[in-house]
Amino acid sequence: MISTDLHLLFSNIRKEFPALTQKAYGKDLVYLDSAATTLKPQSVIDRMTQFYSYETGNVHRGAHFIADKATQAFENARMRTAQFLGAESADEIIFVRGTTEGINLVAQTYGKMNLKAGDEILLTEMEHHANIVPWQMIAEQTGAKILAVGLLENGELDLNDFKLKLSSKTKIFAFTACSNVLGTNNDMKFLTALAHQAGAKVLIDGAQIVSQAPINVKDLDCDFFVFSAHKLFGPFGLGVVYGKKSILESLPPYQGGGSMISKVTFEKTTYNDIPYRFEAGTPHVAGAVGLHSAIDFVERLGFKNIHAFESELLSKATSSLLQIPGLKIFGTSATKGPMVSFNIQGAHHSDLSQIIDQEGVAVRAGHHCTQPLMAKLGVQGTVRASFSVYNNTDDIEHLVKAVEKAREMLL
Ligand code: PLP
Repeated sequence: MISTDLHLLFSNIRKEFPALTQKAYGKDLVYLDSAATTLKPQSVIDRMTQFYSYETGNVHRGAHFIADKATQAFENARMRTAQFLGAESADEIIFVRGTTEGINLVAQTYGKMNLKAGDEILLTEMEHHANIVPWQMIAEQTGAKILAVGLLENGELDLNDFKLKLSSKTKIFAFTACSNVLGTNNDMKFLTALAHQAGAKVLIDGAQIVSQAPINVKDLDCDFFVFSAHKLFGPFGLGVVYGKKSILESLPPYQGGGSMISKVTFEKTTYNDIPYRFEAGTPHVAGAVGLHSAIDFVERLGFKNIHAFESELLSKATSSLLQIPGLKIFGTSATKGPMVSFNIQGAHHSDLSQIIDQEGVAVRAGHHCTQPLMAKLGVQGTVRASFSVYNNTDDIEHLVKAVEKAREMLL
């Protein structure tokens, strides 16, 4: 049972999300697609409106009042993000467009500089395309080889396979902290330590974990950690790459342009210090400011409360959905994150989701940008319901009724 205090805390939080005041097809909107993107609280929307209203000078180059304001807000956001991730310094925080761009940045800088034919990049079978394709691209450019750690029946990583595939040839181990399909939460610290013992560098895809659990990159000892603000109650188009200072300092730039330079002549350009070396052009300043506000929001709630609340929602959803005949859940790890991926025997996932949507319940259906995982599971796609701080047990009941209706209509 969710305690009364927690219930009250989260039912008040729900009121901070304007998106939930609208109807979908005449019914109250039930939003269960937070693994795709979280809704945005009023505090984040207000902060970005304030920024766009009064602070839109360009950063780092304007010598005037509002340019200074913007620069200060942008660099404060960097410091807040460093603190949120437990980084040693704000220099270790690079603002990019999202997780996807962050992984491309690491692949095209660290990967380009350090990989050669015969080297191996180790991934896992539960990765999002964002943590597969950038590595394949750099593997093609350098002659390195991609390997992927297999999974157990319950959707957890097969640690024997990990130990088998990890070797002195492994130069990079890149894995997701939490699967966006199975919900599996990987033991980041343990996996990082093993990969380091083999001499590999470690990149953690934090897209799904940042809204669920506190992160301390120093404690994890990972070399890179990436996430997207939009999955943490923040804006679209803003992502973060954390990189260890000593590694970032050794890397070449990712893109060329303004701000990333120290001196430009037609003969030769020298580059700026980190993190600016990796931030060519005008950055998404409002996005960074919005992320700052989103971090304040999530820390105000507290990860302990979030975990307790979301775990209850997950367990209620799991047990209720399993009552439905023919329904199969993919990913049954005991410590999984707040999402349920499922199919119903004899019904197509797209048809299911369309009917569920007509009931006002927003879920995701398809391959979830994890085609290799779908192939492994032997399905073309699944329906995924994912839960966040603004959901409640009524939402779960709506979901279950909508799935039951869809089943009746389709079978
Ligand atoms: N990695 C995981 C585990 C994800 O769930 C996602 C998005 O769903 C991504 C990476 C890509 O994130 P973005 O599209 O924000 O770059």
